[in-house]
Amino acid sequence: MNDACVLSGTPALPAGGVALTYDDGPGPRSAELARLLRHERVPATFFVLGESIRRYGEVLAEVADCGHTIGLHSEYHRPFSSVPLAADQLGKCRARVEQYLGAGYFDDKPIFYRPPYGIGDEPMPGYIGPVGWHASGRDWDITYRNDAPLRPPTNPRQPQSVEGCVEDILAGLRRGDGGVVLLHDFAPTTEYTAGGLAEADLDLQAVEITVLLLQRLRAEGYQLVGLPVPAPAG
Ligand SMILES: [Zn+2]
Repeated sequence: MNDACVLSGTPALPAGGVALTYDDGPGPRSAELARLLRHERVPATFFVLGESIRRYGEVLAEVADCGHTIGLHSEYHRPFSSVPLAADQLGKCRARVEQYLGAGYFDDKPIFYRPPYGIGDEPMPGYIGPVGWHASGRDWDITYRNDAPLRPPTNPRQPQSVEGCVEDILAGLRRGDGGVVLLHDFAPTTEYTAGGLAEADLDLQAVEITVLLLQRLRAEGYQLVGLPVPAPAG
């Protein structure tokens, strides 16, 4: 099964292009992931979450130093149900990033954003997006050890694995000859604690998923690209 969520600000990539994006971090393995991607010469985008920055903010500098793009997710992991709420959440998230990377960090950069759960398809002045995704692979089921607190008991699904996640992502990419991939390098504290979990209960496999995914993408001839900045309107 593959979940796509193509929002109005999801960029079209060149044919055969794949852009990797990671949500909900930074987390305890984000620096390792950022270094791996740099070593592989893959530019990625990290849609960071304010409540994760409160725990792992010191990791942001290494992610940025590895050449990756810092995008904004939200302050708290809740749907953007209105434009004022979205503006408030993005502003707070931006301020948290700037606490660690400097007040002028975004002055010369585009600021991509992705709303939590991909819910809320409103363009926001000053930001680029909302950036959705073309392919995903239920990596959150691995994170929650296939015992997702949020999964309705009436809708049981097969347990996910690293291999299965990569296959699901590839299936989504083959349909569109590439596209934006959704992955997660951490999980929202408010979400997993509401599900009765502690951070130690999470199974964070973004590094393992990425290693296998890059192998498969290269074997199939895809090109790893960063998110393109749209040309100014007018
Ligand atoms: Zn998220």
